[in-house]
Amino acid sequence: MKRGTIAVLLVLAACSPSGMPSAPSGPSPTAPSPTDPGPAGVTPIRVLMLTATAGFRHDAIPTARQVMTSMAASAGDIRLTLTEEPSAITATALADQDVLLFALTSGELPFSGEQRAAILSFVSGGKGFIGVHSATDTLYGWPEYGRLVGAYFKEHPWTQQATVIVEDASHPASKGLGDRLTLLEEFYTFRENPRPQVQVLLRLDPSSVGASGDYPLAWAQAFGSGRSYYNALGHFSSTWNDTRFQQQMLGAIRWTAGR
Ligand SMILES: [Zn+2]
Repeated sequence: MKRGTIAVLLVLAACSPSGMPSAPSGPSPTAPSPTDPGPAGVTPIRVLMLTATAGFRHDAIPTARQVMTSMAASAGDIRLTLTEEPSAITATALADQDVLLFALTSGELPFSGEQRAAILSFVSGGKGFIGVHSATDTLYGWPEYGRLVGAYFKEHPWTQQATVIVEDASHPASKGLGDRLTLLEEFYTFRENPRPQVQVLLRLDPSSVGASGDYPLAWAQAFGSGRSYYNALGHFSSTWNDTRFQQQMLGAIRWTAGR
């Protein structure tokens, strides 16, 4: 286990009231093998969450890590591993994972050709990928990544309270949200509208920002035999702490894992 990588074996971890586990510096010698059923007899969904940045670094990253850790612990069926190290994303590491989550990543992360191939074959071979917010402001120089995440960030014209329309209230990653939600966010636009290639789950209500047009904000797509999900929300800590956002993350993890 690389220094800087915190393996959080949430299925067994005892958590403090703040929701942060008593973080080990490496894997626990008593850790179950990843395919062992958890205490409830449920095989956990193994999620590897990367928050590495080579460009802009969001202030919300510590909150994102804490919230996802806490949420995974409460969910009971998710084993989350956090890393800040691009070098931790290898074929060997991915062999023990079900979902790769790029949360608030940015810039040209220094992945080797082998790492890139491992990421693509992981998802196309039947596993899951999730990108959050600036995951689309990441790896512009790797077009296959652009297809995996669905689009590349263009600009963020609106940082304000606005309304988001739920396009599919039956999808696991957007159900329970109702028809729309209003929140303070930094709302993204993209170089190309991903709608022809993906199933859009959320879009901005343009009238709520005094604009017009089609602005998808969350989507799902097949990627080979695997599944990819992206959500453009997540700029602010307040979004990560918002249960309406957390339920989307939980649904997305289970959906991309094929559960
Ligand atoms: Zn942002």
